[in-house]
Amino acid sequence: MGLVATVSFQQARKLVVERVKALRQRPAVERVGLLEAAGRVLASDVASDRDYPPEPRSMRDGFAVRVGDLPGWLIVTGEVRAGQACEIQVGPGEAVEIMTGATVPPGADAVAMVEHVRVEGARVAVERVLREGENINGRGCDAGQGQILLKAGVRIGASEVALLATLGCVEVEVFARTRVAILATGDELVDLDRKPAPHQIRNSNSWSLAMQVVRAGGEAVVLAVAPDEIESTARLVEEGLQFDLLLLSGGVSAGKYDVVEQALARYGAEFYFDRVKLQPGQPCVFGRANGKFFFGLPGNPASTLVCFETLARAAVELLGGLEESTLKVTRAPLAAPFRHKPGLTRFLPARLEENGRLSPVKWSGSGDVPALARANCFLVADPDIEEYGEGEMIGVLLA
Ligand code: AMP
Ligand code: MG
Repeated sequence: MGLVATVSFQQARKLVVERVKALRQRPAVERVGLLEAAGRVLASDVASDRDYPPEPRSMRDGFAVRVGDLPGWLIVTGEVRAGQACEIQVGPGEAVEIMTGATVPPGADAVAMVEHVRVEGARVAVERVLREGENINGRGCDAGQGQILLKAGVRIGASEVALLATLGCVEVEVFARTRVAILATGDELVDLDRKPAPHQIRNSNSWSLAMQVVRAGGEAVVLAVAPDEIESTARLVEEGLQFDLLLLSGGVSAGKYDVVEQALARYGAEFYFDRVKLQPGQPCVFGRANGKFFFGLPGNPASTLVCFETLARAAVELLGGLEESTLKVTRAPLAAPFRHKPGLTRFLPARLEENGRLSPVKWSGSGDVPALARANCFLVADPDIEEYGEGEMIGVLLA
């Protein structure tokens, strides 16, 4: 197969996001329990069931007072605790003892902290002047009743679980998981439970991809390994195209036995790109066949891993109803100078240390799986920058 399109890494990412957003269908909706919803994508907007807080709340332990009375001595007429309905009022010259989280009694407009007052019998001296509203969370200051607090299309993390629990959502509507077929190709591959001959290797990509798919919120379905031969590869491709997304590993380089693109072409594949100015992972392929998206990920384990994280993950997430899929990229200072040959965006295994400095990990190329495991992130080298000095900021992919 001839070359279809070589794109920059940024163009590749843009193409994936645009194509998938334009052609995706709304996933099915499931109702699940709150804990089961963790990590899933919310399928419907969630509104506030009441004002938060529904009554003015004290932010401190202390005394509910009227600012007009301060500074001065006040008569303590009672107390309110958290969890107690407030039936008392604060009149002129009065104070009510109050605990954190308790409802501020009508008439009071500030809370004096217990650390700032002097109590003598039934009287309290407040020597400081307070602002109106000081140490009080007013009714509805966090949210008003009916306000949309979560939009469909967000991933449900710990903060979202806290909010859904606050709102009393015992069950939550989430999108069905994207079903992703994983198809490794290569005559050299053996399953994990077999002892490879010296000319063979274990199929690690199906496992790392399955893990990455699950982490992206998808469901991984690992197909049989395809030998480097068109007929069997085509049969497995057909099987893979029954799923929401097909991920292939290997067989997309220029080698004589790289038959993946030919096999896809049998199903009317449209190729959006088949080469990305990216390392590792240059021969990465993205397209659509039989109404389904597919990626042909180069087979070297680092290439497969990086291409999934930087390109295919977005497809899994967006097909799963997520509104935005973001690259987890930040910047950090280099521990030592770094240089690379410009032209390609490089994602190199690296370590971000606790002191915040970044160092590439020594590796022998994109087949070096032990080096991947020594790394805790990837250094991201810009295709237009050849040299970086010590302490200079450089991209970091947290994957
Ligand atoms: P390919 O992209 O098919 O040319 O594969 C490049 C290299 O990646 C192969 O020579 C293998 O060493 C390695 N490789 C391919 N597929 C896998 C796999 N599923 N698991 C581990 N390594 C693989
Ligand atoms: Mg191969």
